[in-house]
Amino acid sequence: MNLRTQGFDELDELYKEIILDHYRAPRHSQLLQDPDAEVEAANPFCGDEITLHIKVDNGTLSEIGLSGHGCSISQSSGSMMAEMVEGMSVEEVRELAGLFKKLMTGEELSEDEMEELGDLEALQGVQKFPVRVKCALLAWSALEDAFRQLENGS
Ligand code: ZN
Repeated sequence: MNLRTQGFDELDELYKEIILDHYRAPRHSQLLQDPDAEVEAANPFCGDEITLHIKVDNGTLSEIGLSGHGCSISQSSGSMMAEMVEGMSVEEVRELAGLFKKLMTGEELSEDEMEELGDLEALQGVQKFPVRVKCALLAWSALEDAFRQLENGS
């Protein structure tokens, strides 16, 4: 049996590097002192857990902190998310979340859309493993919950 049959071609190797880099050195892993919204999320199928803190000023996600533990897919996806969304408007973040969901559900994305996803592209192989898609989306659904909290003023 050769490795190729398991899908470890060169591109996958590159993607794996990106994923492991985020997993080993997660970005924005400090929780915030005084968050506007705080969400704890878990994926019991895999044992992934994350705590998400955000600050939103005038419709812009000004600060994000994400701490957690679990598999490399869940943690690296959260790290990539945190790295990308800080400084974006809530609307832009939601658009990005929508694109990432499209990627995870195996929908066709345009070249421009792929570009917008940046490092997240590295997670596209996850779409072949429905159980792991939950891992990849954990941080993103936590972020949506945080936005919802703020909208409801709670
Ligand atoms: Zn997981």
